[in-house]
Amino acid sequence: MTSGTGAETGTPPGPGIRLTRIIATIGPASADIGTIRAMIRAGMDIARLNLSHGTLQDHQETISRIRLAATEARKLVAIMIDIPGPKLRVRSMPGPEISFFPQDHVVLASEPDAGELGIGPASYIPQMCEGDTMLLADGAVTLTVTSIGPSIRAEVITGGTIRQGAGVVIPGRRPDIPYVNEELKKNLSFAAELNPDFIALSFVGSAGDITTVRDILTDDHRIIPLIAKIETKLAVDLFDEILEAADGIMVARGDLGVELPIACVPHVQKEIIRSCNCAGKPVITATEMLESMVEHGRPTRAEVTDVANAIVDGTDATMLSAETSIGKDPARAIAMMAEIACETERHLPYRQILEERKEWHGSGPSEIISYSACYLANELASRAIVAFTRSGITAERVSRCRPGTPILAITPDEQIARRLLNRWGVIPCIHAPIHTADELFFIALELAHEHDLTRSGDRLVIIAGNFAGIQGRTNMIKVQTVA
Ligand code: PGA
Ligand code: MN
Repeated sequence: MTSGTGAETGTPPGPGIRLTRIIATIGPASADIGTIRAMIRAGMDIARLNLSHGTLQDHQETISRIRLAATEARKLVAIMIDIPGPKLRVRSMPGPEISFFPQDHVVLASEPDAGELGIGPASYIPQMCEGDTMLLADGAVTLTVTSIGPSIRAEVITGGTIRQGAGVVIPGRRPDIPYVNEELKKNLSFAAELNPDFIALSFVGSAGDITTVRDILTDDHRIIPLIAKIETKLAVDLFDEILEAADGIMVARGDLGVELPIACVPHVQKEIIRSCNCAGKPVITATEMLESMVEHGRPTRAEVTDVANAIVDGTDATMLSAETSIGKDPARAIAMMAEIACETERHLPYRQILEERKEWHGSGPSEIISYSACYLANELASRAIVAFTRSGITAERVSRCRPGTPILAITPDEQIARRLLNRWGVIPCIHAPIHTADELFFIALELAHEHDLTRSGDRLVIIAGNFAGIQGRTNMIKVQTVA
């Protein structure tokens, strides 16, 4: 056993500094300004709004509250709009909650009679056969289809409780409708109106799904990074082409765990994260990370270990869903996730990770400089790497190498700054364009100091990408000793 600090690891982050990003889903438990403020204080980097639930106007108002609370707290918080795919859901039921027991008989229909479960939209109901399995609420309830007629009759195999809006999955069956349909276009245009920092696309099935969405947005003069949610077997099979087309990936374990045998989730997660790290694209690990905190004040050991393992695997961000959208104490769940992340990050083998990633970067000078910045920071036990970046790419390249030190990314563009919030270790910071090298060094020190990232005698590693006004200095690296 080692304490995980010092020579054997490279440099671990300083106290109170978290490198893993936290995404929290906003819902009825967290849409009010007081809770949003508490969530921002606890460490929410990105707020996810799920268009599967709530009205469009609700979302608009929630986003205004998040932006207001972020401004008040003088923090950057990004907005991710999650666009539902063709997901079948329970749309109506006899009460607000309903419990099922094994051997119960259930009737499901798109136009239900009294006592039946309404499911829809009708066009999302796939062709089914007797004997098919149906999973409700991410598998909380399993049914076997006993007959198909105008309505579907099924028998309960595994009992449980569901709420309205619960997902309905029939593994291996897809509705016969195109991915980009009228519903998706409507959601997309609404999402774009909200000017989010990211759009997450549910149930992506191919690279073409992503490029079609991007073309629609581009025609509308919108450039919004697209996060592909990997949540079907098809998406896993076509992962390489999806990764290439997407700006980032979410391991959407909720649906993945019902679309695939649940035991496949851990190794699929690991493979996806590794491929994303290798490609330099951000990856989010999502769903049930601290699930018991929906009800309880403390997570289980298994959940804590799951969050830590996703970080060890190389995830850029961990996500909370029900814990913050309908949970008892959203801010507490975020604080717990932050605590697990900080502790785990202190013990990562940064030197070994960097050594392994040597093979991953391209041969251009700027990629080698980004890599070298991490090497220097590890060897010199720097407390921060300062990256001046106009487009964000310089900071992204550094992040990909997973230095143990935070990356203070200084950019003049507020949206770029927010979009860096899904990258491991990046602390984005906005500053007006800089015109001379001396000014750049001065600002690096000043901002590092402001973010409590320096002490006297520390050595900061400063790099500059294509930063405004610094002609001919786009590939600069400097080690600056703090006076
Ligand atoms: P969802 O996506 O919460 O929108 O279903 C995440 C998942 O399926 O894990
Ligand atoms: Mn999902």
